[in-house]
Amino acid sequence: MSHKVGGLIASGKTKLVYSLDDPSLVLLRFKDDVTALDGKKRDVIPGKGSLNAGISARLFQLLKENNVHNHYIKMYDPSSLIVRKLDMIPVEVVCRNVATGSIVKRLPITEGTVFDSPIIEFFLKDDARGDPMINSWHMMALKLASKCEIDEIVELTLRANDVLKKFLSSRGLMLLDFKLEFGRRNGEILIGDELDPDCMRVRDASTGKVLDKDLYRKGASLDEVKKAYEELYRRIVET
Ligand code: 5GP
Repeated sequence: MSHKVGGLIASGKTKLVYSLDDPSLVLLRFKDDVTALDGKKRDVIPGKGSLNAGISARLFQLLKENNVHNHYIKMYDPSSLIVRKLDMIPVEVVCRNVATGSIVKRLPITEGTVFDSPIIEFFLKDDARGDPMINSWHMMALKLASKCEIDEIVELTLRANDVLKKFLSSRGLMLLDFKLEFGRRNGEILIGDELDPDCMRVRDASTGKVLDKDLYRKGASLDEVKKAYEELYRRIVET
């Protein structure tokens, strides 16, 4: 069944959200914009939106097949997904298998350390405060989520990590870390947002070649960033 696209509901740095004729669903359109440093660095990479939409669709579908509940319904066009409308929780949930990025600046941990078991961290989505790290007590005190919901978020994150790690490893890729966002629908917690190289760190397992937004963060050319995203798309979506 084809859906009729309505008005713009929300506009983010890299995605637009539109209403659909079915009020329980929304359309997520991925833009070609690439940003870093809380939006202070910003460029456009033509074609990036459809690469990220395709990768997100494949990975959300994979999670669905493994009973890891998320918002994905289907692709609408090459750069847009139809997803369930969620009441989003303003928290970023990061899961780390290997130490890199902000954790090695914050804690006495050597870059590249492989954790015995994954580490989960929560960050409040609050640009003005620089997305501070919070814990489950803060989440309950700020009425962001109940204890039961936090347990569900942790369980879904760990299960997503297992499924993604295994799948990416079958394609010769290593998952260092990733960020998820969650929302509620009819009292149920689901994974929302996106799942692509803008919000995960993925390396070639044998060469260590970087295939994610770290390239852009660290000053690679837009062409290099695009080539890495295209390679990841080929290895995740086309094989
Ligand atoms: P870190 O805390 O090391 O900067 O990031 C950990 C993981 O979460 C990385 O995979 C990174 O891409 C993702 N991440 C952290 N913050 C954000 C954010 O604001 N937006 C996106 N798209 N990903 C984020």
